[in-house]
Amino acid sequence: MLDKSCNTNGQCKKIDNGQTREQKPWNVEPSTIGNNCINPIRLTIEKLFSKSVTEKSIISLAIGDPTLYGNLNPSQESIDALVKVVQQGKHNGYSPSMGLQTARQAIADFISVDGAKFTSDDIFICSGCASSLETSITALADPFKGQNILIPKPGFGAYKTLAVTINVKVKSYDLIPEKNWEADLNQLESQIDDKTTAIVVNNPSNPCGANYSKQHLQRILDIASRHRVPIIADEIYEKLVYPGKKFVSLASMETDVPILVCSGLSKSLLAPGWRQGWIAVCDRAGVMTEIRRILESLGQRINGSNSLVQGAIPEILQNTPQSFYDDAAAKLEKQAKVVYDRLSHVKGLTPYMPEAALYLVVKFDLEKFPDLQNGLEITKQLLNEESVFCLPGECFEMTGFIRIVITSPCDVLAEACDRIAKFAERHYVE
Ligand SMILES: *Cc1c(COP(=O)(O)O)cnc(C)c1O
Repeated sequence: MLDKSCNTNGQCKKIDNGQTREQKPWNVEPSTIGNNCINPIRLTIEKLFSKSVTEKSIISLAIGDPTLYGNLNPSQESIDALVKVVQQGKHNGYSPSMGLQTARQAIADFISVDGAKFTSDDIFICSGCASSLETSITALADPFKGQNILIPKPGFGAYKTLAVTINVKVKSYDLIPEKNWEADLNQLESQIDDKTTAIVVNNPSNPCGANYSKQHLQRILDIASRHRVPIIADEIYEKLVYPGKKFVSLASMETDVPILVCSGLSKSLLAPGWRQGWIAVCDRAGVMTEIRRILESLGQRINGSNSLVQGAIPEILQNTPQSFYDDAAAKLEKQAKVVYDRLSHVKGLTPYMPEAALYLVVKFDLEKFPDLQNGLEITKQLLNEESVFCLPGECFEMTGFIRIVITSPCDVLAEACDRIAKFAERHYVE
């Protein structure tokens, strides 16, 4: 809606006392912070998805939201707890910025293990794990001092998005596919400089589905300790480790490294839309008093997270049985195996079987696919020709890969994999 007295350059005429005078043009410039904010996943989804063509129904394996197909749902106990809170009408107001005391206590109890006991004072409730990460990065990394954080490559795109938006620099450390996506420790250590203020460790990981051993975590901690760099541990997939594998939290290890453990309900409880996350402060050396103060101040920017869900957290965490998490993990493993089995004998493709989480990455041997230059080209063509929508590895800083979300039911995944196999066979050149 343009006012007639304004021309297209934003210049407007204003009439004062019957006299017309020129006003200086409007100039509504976006902020540097706004301009800095680029989310590669959202960009790709919105760009690719807008123009799909074939008559086959689209199978989307792009979005890491377990609720999309209705086969993975929050526990009945969680739903009951939330309904009760809504009906009681006691939690319609603001909660304290750090979170409701009862919810903080319940989270502390839920995540405490032998060797790592948390109290309610250690827990800061946030609006989803993304908000925990944003708060942690903002608390630790100072753009005015040119500081940087180390992030995994390949890795979840939000780390970079959240950091560069506030002008914090990122450096990356490599994960090694042949070693179950463990960090390249020498290279990680070589990336640390005197401006590095945090190392982000994502375990279990998105997009690789890695689940690190105690030994590997110990080696990462040793490096962090040697260089006196705190860790931001993104453990949002802690409960979705497949049967027979064991998850080890960084906080449960013997270490003097200060750690901000970021997690939440989104993935474990299969309820990302409930927007509940937390930061658990693990500080054996007692060096994070100031950081705790900052976490509290940063929480005050947005008056706390959703109070209703916070009110339900004690019952959600206490009443949801272990079998709920076990069933979800077993289902995910079964679905991942459908994809792995179907793609592992397709020429030119290498699927990597995950040990946890919602994803499986597949490598395309680009030399055998001369008309597909990179992951972006692969996912674009795959969508055009077979109506299967996956994210390109480029969203996670890896090339020649695609990421398949394995939350859909087995029959959907099987159909998608048959289409991917056909696609690969069509483009394969010996
Ligand atoms: C999904 C995801 C998150 C974000 O979780 P929310 O609680 O929905 O904000 C954080 N980290 C990783 C690695 C994820 O895959």
